[in-house]
Amino acid sequence: MKTCIKCKEEKSLNFFSKDAKRTDGLQPCCKACNAIYRSANKENISKWGRGYRKRPDVAIVRAEYQEKYYAENREKILDQKKEYFSRDDVKIKKKEYLEKNIDKLKVSNREYREKNKERIAIYDAKYGAKNRNKINERNKLWLASRPGKNSAYMAQRRGRKLNATPSWADQKSIQNYYILAKFMTEFTGEKWVVDHVVPLQSKNVCGLHAHTNLAVITAFENGAKHNKYWPDMPCHIN
Ligand SMILES: [Zn+2]
Repeated sequence: MKTCIKCKEEKSLNFFSKDAKRTDGLQPCCKACNAIYRSANKENISKWGRGYRKRPDVAIVRAEYQEKYYAENREKILDQKKEYFSRDDVKIKKKEYLEKNIDKLKVSNREYREKNKERIAIYDAKYGAKNRNKINERNKLWLASRPGKNSAYMAQRRGRKLNATPSWADQKSIQNYYILAKFMTEFTGEKWVVDHVVPLQSKNVCGLHAHTNLAVITAFENGAKHNKYWPDMPCHIN
């Protein structure tokens, strides 16, 4: 038995949390008193936690630990991440989050990239140099998987984009959509692409290559679209 210094009640030892620094190995306050304290000081405690984690000495130890943990458990972490992001409820949540925050994300992503321009350029160059074979191999496979859709196809596509670009198109805004797609791909681990809401070319319409006609969607959704649907599409056109 031990008496809590807060509520002064005598309680059996399992009502006290462990504390290796104390002579009896237990905290002076009972678990119930601790819980009351925690719920009354929730905000202060989390603020303290944030401050603690930001302390340079603590941050270094934490970063070293995280790096070591990641190196030792890389496969496991990647598997968990893959599994998590393939869950249907997560996909829905992700989509809702993106739809709700797309403007905010665009801004913060732009700010982040501007602030870290040099770091990102170095990272991209390093990644490109280290993975040149992998990237080339992937590109080759991708092209091979699309018979007839070789560089001539890409050039034609570029030309189509050019033809569909109105004089008032804001290149910077357009670029932001591509940056966002890249960011979402990195952020979610799933491929995101820039989509022309009204397709650039289909049987019935010609959409514009302008920021007013762009959206960032998953490659999966883009594949499902097949240039056949756009908002307010008259129902008699198919
Ligand atoms: Zn107590």
